[in-house]
Amino acid sequence: MFDLHILGTSGSRPTGTRSVSGNYLSTSNGNLIIDCGEGFQSRLVKHELALKNNPMGIRARISKIKVILLTHSHLDHCWGILPLLKTMQLDGRQQPLTIIAPSTPQAIEWASKKYGEKAPDNYDINPSDFAFLFKEWRTHINNSSKKLFKINWILIPIIGQKLHHLQTQPIEGMKLTAIPTQHTVVSVAWLISSIHKPARSILISGDTKYNVPSFKKEILKRPVDILIHEATFTNELSEKAGQHGHSTALEAGKTAFDIDAQILGMVHFSPRIYDLKDVEKESRINHKRSFACIDGDIFRVSNNGKIDLFRKYENSWYEYDT
Ligand SMILES: [Zn+2]
Ligand SMILES: [Zn+2]
Repeated sequence: MFDLHILGTSGSRPTGTRSVSGNYLSTSNGNLIIDCGEGFQSRLVKHELALKNNPMGIRARISKIKVILLTHSHLDHCWGILPLLKTMQLDGRQQPLTIIAPSTPQAIEWASKKYGEKAPDNYDINPSDFAFLFKEWRTHINNSSKKLFKINWILIPIIGQKLHHLQTQPIEGMKLTAIPTQHTVVSVAWLISSIHKPARSILISGDTKYNVPSFKKEILKRPVDILIHEATFTNELSEKAGQHGHSTALEAGKTAFDIDAQILGMVHFSPRIYDLKDVEKESRINHKRSFACIDGDIFRVSNNGKIDLFRKYENSWYEYDT
């Protein structure tokens, strides 16, 4: 029903074993990318090649991507998008692609009227807002002799803590909802749900500090099968986490408990985290079935609600649940 491929688990910058954020989700109705940090397409190409040579029958093809969802404009979450679009263009892609990212009403208005001009400081408009990045990326990708496939660029005007339900859903049978989170720039978590029974859903937090007002069972209204939540630090650095708009593993576990998620997958670890067992030890205080993800992990949600985690070892994936 859903296969979620975790293709980056490092926060802010890559380490020797972890890349920055990026996920590939395949559903029965169409495939998505959620965040697309630096080097994402190289990882995806290698991952897909390993899958192709594997008997599992799971794939992650670039050509099958229908939608790209971005959580916020920090480089470790979006800087891989332009090279990926270029590859799609070089591949002669024909199908349209939808790209959706959070912004603010002020930035959207400013960018539409005053393209090229920086907003005055008192306007409180971030110069790296997606309203500006989208314009730059469009210009760059259009500036080519090769024909470009259609791209629907959608900016969501985030207002306070209000959940944003897309007016037009880009994938039939799926509901995508942006949930404002608490980071240093405008940011959202993505709730991705199947509409028809059995209704299943995945929530991906992006970067956020603990206590997002909408991460509540009553507000989400449906059980979350998988919560992918950042855990940049462990609890000894909880103050630093809060100051920088991040969470600890303890807090990720609390959130998973609060929303009654079946499984918690933690990502976005600070390069200073060496042993992921420390991360799991903390989150499991509040949520037993939680895992510190490693790059290449695949979560499979079956129709009957069963969730399996497959972990890669020497080019093959094995069921993992300890
Ligand atoms: Zn980040
Ligand atoms: Zn960030």
